[in-house]
Amino acid sequence: MIRVGVNGYGTIGKRVADAVAAQPDMKLVGVTKASPDYGVEAAARRGYDLYAAVDDGAEAFAAAGVDLAGTLGDLLEAVDVVVDCAPSGVGERNAPVYEAHDTPAIFQGGEDAAVAETSFNARGRFEAARGADAVRVVSCNTTALSRLLAPLDETYGVEKARVTLVRRGGDPSETNRGPINDIVPDPATVPSHHGPDVNEILPDVPVDTAALKAPVTGMHTHSVNVTLETEPDSTAVRDLLADEDRIFLVPEAAGIDGAGALKEYAADAGRPRGDLWENCVWEESISVTGRDLYLFQNVHQEADVVPENVDAIRAMTTDVDAAESVARTNETLGVGL
Ligand code: NAD
Repeated sequence: MIRVGVNGYGTIGKRVADAVAAQPDMKLVGVTKASPDYGVEAAARRGYDLYAAVDDGAEAFAAAGVDLAGTLGDLLEAVDVVVDCAPSGVGERNAPVYEAHDTPAIFQGGEDAAVAETSFNARGRFEAARGADAVRVVSCNTTALSRLLAPLDETYGVEKARVTLVRRGGDPSETNRGPINDIVPDPATVPSHHGPDVNEILPDVPVDTAALKAPVTGMHTHSVNVTLETEPDSTAVRDLLADEDRIFLVPEAAGIDGAGALKEYAADAGRPRGDLWENCVWEESISVTGRDLYLFQNVHQEADVVPENVDAIRAMTTDVDAAESVARTNETLGVGL
């Protein structure tokens, strides 16, 4: 049984905690919180032991009448691996604490690649994490692009990928984010950091990315153009992507016209928090002109990295191979619509 702790019970941390708790070969030892806000109740309802993320935070929990199982240090001593889900940049500050406790750590995509020995995506880069002490699961956008470009490169060869990312302004719970009345180039310079980040997973795939921020909270949307080395057939591309467990081809006949309907579809399917763990590729958008492939995909930023974190735990702590780990994770969570 792999003993796991989650440091930072926010948007990603609460989802990773639930996913870990669902694995028969893992035990969720506990989660940390920085303050006794509403997330405390969510953890308590699920029976998760709560630890203080920051040592001087314990008083605030006591004042709020919240019982703690201990501090972050106590949690680190009790686990085989910690999943850092702290805000962007805080993970890097937490790294020396993990090292001091000799606890292997998984970081998230908000950290620079240099925080870890390797970046991780189960589809493109599983073995690199084998036995590592520090691994970074790449961001939601990089995860989705890696899942898409890996099979295309294996089958046709990617000469050049060009992707425009229309990013959600903030997560639904982030009341302080924006824009609220504009679409903003972010960054205004091209390429954005996403392309180089994909190359942390797929070093030989040429990819340029440009990014904008839009006044939506539900999902990111990618407009993708890939020039392939060999001329594909659009039906064969469709079948190739349909065979990928973590890609959902949104069927034309379903009448799903955007992120709102997609999230509704996920909620109707009984998904926890309406989560979509898969890339959502619009089936009718898959178009081929010569060697140029075009498609749109939507990415649920709060969810797609969650199964990847579960696989990263196995890659670091066991000898289970990639296919077996992905199959187990998919089966236990119900990945694959
Ligand atoms: P979040 O703000 O929702 O959650 C972070 C949690 O960490 C909060 O509960 C916060 O109280 C807690 N925290 C604060 N200080 C801490 C500390 N010192 N130690 C431990 N925990 C602390 O953030 P998030 O959206 O879950 O993002 C977490 C990481 O995941 C970031 O690196 C982010 O870039 C990455 N990520 C986020 C998304 C997304 O869309 N939300 C997608 C993919 C990756």
